[in-house]
Amino acid sequence: MFDRLKKKLSEFRETVVEKIKKKAEREEVKEEVEEEVEEEVEEEVKEEEKARKEEVAERREEKKKGEREEREVRKTKKKAKGIGTLLKEKGKAILEGKTVLDEKDLEKPLEVLEEALLESDVALSVAEEIISSVRRELVGERKKWGAKTEELVQSALKTALLNVFSAVGEFDFERFVATRVRAKQGLVNIAFVGVNGTGKTTSIAKVAKRLLDRGYSVVLASADTYRAGATEQLETHAANLGLKLIKHQYGADPAAVVYDAVKYAQSNRKEVVLADTAGRMHTSVNLMEQLKKICRVTPPDLVVFVDEAIAGNDAVERAKRFDETVGIDATILTKVDVDAKGGTAISVAHSTSKPILFLGVGQGYEDLQKFNAEWLVERLLG
Ligand code: GDP
Repeated sequence: MFDRLKKKLSEFRETVVEKIKKKAEREEVKEEVEEEVEEEVEEEVKEEEKARKEEVAERREEKKKGEREEREVRKTKKKAKGIGTLLKEKGKAILEGKTVLDEKDLEKPLEVLEEALLESDVALSVAEEIISSVRRELVGERKKWGAKTEELVQSALKTALLNVFSAVGEFDFERFVATRVRAKQGLVNIAFVGVNGTGKTTSIAKVAKRLLDRGYSVVLASADTYRAGATEQLETHAANLGLKLIKHQYGADPAAVVYDAVKYAQSNRKEVVLADTAGRMHTSVNLMEQLKKICRVTPPDLVVFVDEAIAGNDAVERAKRFDETVGIDATILTKVDVDAKGGTAISVAHSTSKPILFLGVGQGYEDLQKFNAEWLVERLLG
């Protein structure tokens, strides 16, 4: 899972740590040279002082010159102290183990990191934002490097990645359903949208299982009257999970199916309707119009966009299109278990500004994982 991006992030970390080490080494050499110069100057001053003292001793006998010579010695001592302080100040940052990284140090590694992000399905605007954040964290300020250098780079990457999700926020699906069900009208109507083959039907079954396990009553609606076999597929899941499925004939009006499902749920005190819509291509105007109609006739409490993590930027484009057409509230990303790249979640969340609800991590009903940004970032940086 996410192996590719994980590898690239780890390479970036290593490059930066190596750069810092090299810079620190160069500065250490500088420090040694400066220390040597300082010692030499001090030595010279000491010798000069010694010679003066001897001279003073010799001349002490000469009463008239005595006092003037002592004043000279005091002046020399003061001068020696001044040189020492200057050298110490210069080397202070180095002696404290601090190295200042500048733009130039990070230029190349950040370029490589940006390319890696783009190759790993992170959209351009998001990659740019991540790069700026990492640069902000690492450049300029005096950092105390050393044994913890790697942690500092790691933390800069972590902050940058988490920032993407913090702008989107989280959505607690269970709490949302619970609040709705407790409310007077009681029924939660959820529509699932997305293109064919991405795992929409499977995800509906997984969400149904999750709700059943938490004690909710669920009705399924097969509003995909467009694709032959779609209803049968949902029927199999309904049978496996022991759920009522509302369906119409092939080619019927999908809005009517959801309408019937909502009516059925209301009169049978069911709490949640999960509607499967046709896996329409986002480019099909007619089918998109039908989707709008479904949302008009039985306004969903939640529109969930489903797509697969392995689709990369295609998923991002589709998410935007569905959002423009019907307004999506959240996303489920499927097939994360077979996604080597790892950037789709970051891109979809960022480009739609909508939270990710769950990740599909397998084909079984239990393979639905609540999305957690920390978890994802930890995985990527792991
Ligand atoms: P739909 O056409 O969008 O409804 O897609 P389906 O639900 O029929 O799923 C298409 C295929 O993807 C099926 O073979 C599913 O078993 C598989 N699938 C769905 N979700 C996941 C997932 O999270 N991981 C993996 N590995 N396969 C999945």
